[in-house]
Amino acid sequence: MLPPSAEALVRELTRLPGVGRRSAQRLAVHLLRVPEADALNLAHVIEHARAHIHPCPECFGFAEDGLCPICRDTRRDESVICVVEAPQDVDPIERSGAFRGRYHVLGGALSPLDGVDPEDLTIAQLVQRVQAGGISEVILATNPTMTGEATAAYIAGLLRADAKITRLASGLPVGGDLEFADEVTLGRALDGRRIIE
Ligand SMILES: [Zn+2]
Repeated sequence: MLPPSAEALVRELTRLPGVGRRSAQRLAVHLLRVPEADALNLAHVIEHARAHIHPCPECFGFAEDGLCPICRDTRRDESVICVVEAPQDVDPIERSGAFRGRYHVLGGALSPLDGVDPEDLTIAQLVQRVQAGGISEVILATNPTMTGEATAAYIAGLLRADAKITRLASGLPVGGDLEFADEVTLGRALDGRRIIE
């Protein structure tokens, strides 16, 4: 058995998504063996990020000092909004190179059984953005899961009168997370997006 301090480290690492006990032990051993400055630098970077990163006031993605880099970029197409569930979903879409518009991060997917209702997400803010005008298309890029599909259908119902609403084409692994889709598949799914009637 590990000494209490090392055990506490393993326990905290186990709480991270996707980290089981064995990986946590490997990480803990690594952190205890690298030069102290390297291990403490990780702690420092976490502290710094937590202190400086906040939701972008426009799209609710990650931002530092006001708007996020994408909302700040005047070369992006302001008339198309791509709606995703989580901040980390923006990155694979950016890497696909198939999208040059703006984003809207919902902060999750509707799941009444888990207590996630529309007011728990940034849906009202999305409706506000679209109804403020100048938006020609809203691409619903929620995950191809049951909750992601339900969320897309709900939002389509709210915004249908205000903009063209599209959904990513199939080809994405059903039940999977956007976060893990490869950029070629994601690029094709974007190019082949279909209108939700
Ligand atoms: Zn933003």
